[in-house]
This record gives sequence, structure tokens and C-alpha cells, in this order.
Amino acid sequence: MAELVQEYLDQIRAEHLGNTGGALADYIPELARVDPSALGLSLSLADGYIYESGDFTTEFTIQSVSKPFTYALALDRIGQQAVDAKIGVEPSGEAFNEISVDKATDRPKNPMINAGAIAAVSLIPGTSADDRFAQLHEFYSAFAGRRLGVDHDVYASEKATGSRNRAIAYMLQSFGVLDGDPEEILDVYFRQCAIKVTSTDLARMAATLARGGVEPRSGRRVTSAAVVQRTLSVMVTCGMYDAAGDWVSAVGMPAKSGVGGGITAVLPGQLGIGVYSPLLDDKGHSVRGVEVCRSMSASLGLHFLSVTRESRSTIRAAYDARPGVRVYELHGDLLFAGTEQVLRNIEREYDDFDVAILEVSRVDDIDATARRMLAGMREFLNVAGREGLLVDPDDTLRVAGVPNSTARVFGTLDDALLAAESAVAARRNSDG
Ligand code: GLU
Repeated sequence: MAELVQEYLDQIRAEHLGNTGGALADYIPELARVDPSALGLSLSLADGYIYESGDFTTEFTIQSVSKPFTYALALDRIGQQAVDAKIGVEPSGEAFNEISVDKATDRPKNPMINAGAIAAVSLIPGTSADDRFAQLHEFYSAFAGRRLGVDHDVYASEKATGSRNRAIAYMLQSFGVLDGDPEEILDVYFRQCAIKVTSTDLARMAATLARGGVEPRSGRRVTSAAVVQRTLSVMVTCGMYDAAGDWVSAVGMPAKSGVGGGITAVLPGQLGIGVYSPLLDDKGHSVRGVEVCRSMSASLGLHFLSVTRESRSTIRAAYDARPGVRVYELHGDLLFAGTEQVLRNIEREYDDFDVAILEVSRVDDIDATARRMLAGMREFLNVAGREGLLVDPDDTLRVAGVPNSTARVFGTLDDALLAAESAVAARRNSDG
């Protein structure tokens, strides 16, 4: 049944594939040479299960999607107080490469603009550029759960042409924000921008943030929950630069984009999204990346301010009530991520039962996405030669306008069990 979610992803990708608006970044030749039509989309659930669509194996440079991770590393290594002394957390409302500091404090306004990102590099304790980069490289790789590569051509080009970033670094030095040699710090910053990722890496990195700093597949803690909380806060307010307000309203997920065409978005506690599409709008965001995130948020109900409720531990109990009859008791609120878990559990186990009874009388609230997914599950079970029965005394699952054609709905578990017994008996008779 994972294919139900897979179909959503493929459908969303297909909807946006025809949008060829925007332009490739061309401030260095390497970025202008990539395939403009590429569109990769990856979704990692909080348990590390991944859905992927399109060009999800294409590697591209992380660019500014690196900024939250370097900020997190600085917080991890020297603590929030020391970082706050050098970098603010206020949205700048300015372009990413603005040569500016906060007038009142002389600090970069936040770590998501270049000034703040370069300052964040300088805060990583290290003996040399190589040492700092090695720590950063390892930290990003731990978030992704694999060793990431570096695009040496992009790094060399960034370094050869980075006058504006140089201007920013020397300005920061003059304000006393940068300790250390600006050229050495810039060298690390250029290298960090040239780290190679896929949309799946970005989804996995986002999922590690969604899990409060634990990489889902290994269960390894990469950084503390406090570091993640601060990092996500800054992504909410400043991640999308001067488009942050629009982004939070329409998409509602902490996110970061980069001129390589990547966007990473986090739904705390639930999932991480990675998108790759290199055609950019005039603010430097991936045109289709933004559109895909908007669609996913709207159609899967992912806005973080609508997900204030319990939505993960939705299977309260699962047990074999009779031979061939498995009961799944759900509770809490059913939203996308929780429903996805339910579907995957049932899919994993459907070889072991003839009839599944879904007991939803303890479900408090359910959104339209979850209803559609559960309707799809009933069909899936029928196609697989199984039967799905529903205990739904309050009609929680009824989709307006869609009759419960394939499901049989019961007011109590006992009634459903009686029906399940006769269904199993009928199946066994016809088999034997
Ligand atoms: N390497 C680019 C710069 O620092 C990254 C910009 C971005 O991705 O927004 O200018």
C-alpha cells in the first residue's frame, strides 16, 4: 500500500513537470550546465522509510541548503549563547547576499543569509580550513546517513568568482564578528556550498531534523534536540529569505533553498522533504521546488500549524481476534504521516490475515487526506483478495459524496467479528 503514497508523489511531480519557468543559476559556469528539466522529489518519514520520484538520484550542489546545518554545527560545538553573541535570529527581509549587518548590534541578522552563514563557519572551532571543513562534512553526512561527495569544479569556481562573499567576510571582520582569517573562512564556506546531494539526501537530512537530531535509519543522535529546535526556528523565519512570510503562510514548514536547485523542508516529528529542480525564480528559489512543496503541503495537509495534534502513534493495538482475522485499533487524530504508518503496517502483514478489521471508534479527528488514503486501502485489500471491515459507529471515515462501496461498516467490534468469521469460513470453503 506504500504505492498509494508513491502515486501521490508521482502525481504531484507530473503536475509540475510542464512548468519550465525560471532560469538556471549562471554566476558560475558549472551551475548553468545542468539539465534544466530535471525534477526529483523525495519524502522521508520519521522512521526513515523513503518515497522517491523522478530524478532523485541526480546529484547537485547543496549551496545555501547547507546554511542551517553549519549553523547547527556551530550551536552544537560552542553553544547557543556564544553563537548568539555573533549571529542574530531576525528575518532580514533582504536578499541572501546582502552586504549588511544589523544596525543596532553590528551582527549578521540571521544565519540563513550569506553574512550569517560565513560568520557561522568562523564559529566552528578548528585548527585550519581543512579541519573545520572535515567536521562540517562529517556532520552533514551524518544527517544524510551516507558520506556525501564534494564537487571540486563548483568549489574552484565559487572560490575564483566569490567577490561578493569576500566583501561580506571582510565587512564582518571590520565589525569584529569574524575571528580568524577571512580567506580561510571563505574557503570553508565555498567548499560547504559545493557538497553534493540528491533530493533523497535532502529528504533524509530533513528527516533527521524532524526527528530532533536522530538519524532515523541508524538511530544515531547527530546533534541535540535543543540545537535542532533553534535551527528549525531560524529556518521558519529566515529560511526562504525575503519570501519567508509567503512560504510560511502557503507551505508552513521550516525550509531552506539553494541556488543549486534544492529545497529541504521539515515537518517536525513527522517527515522530511527534498526537492531538486534547478530552474530558479528571481529570488534564487527553485521554481518547481516551491510549487511542489506548496502542492504537497496542501494536498497532504502538512502545514505545521495545522499539525498541532498527536499524529504518529495511531495504531493503539493490533491483534489476531480469530484465526485469519486481524484487528487494528486506531486512536488519536489521523493525518498524513500517521495514516501512512497504518497503511504500511497493514501492507506488511496482509499475508497473515484474510480479513482486517479497522476499529476507528477512538479516532478523534481525521483529515481529508487520511480519509482518501484509507479508502484506497480498502480497495487495495480487495484487489489483494483480502477483505477490509470497518468499525466506525460515528461515521468518521465517510468521505462526503463517496459511498462506502467497498467497505462494510459496523457499529461494534462484535458485529464486525461475526461478519469476519463468516467471511473467513466462506473463503476457506471455496479454497477447500
Ligand atoms: N554559493 C552561493 C553564494 O554563496 C549560494 C547562494 C544560495 O544558494 O542561495 O552566493
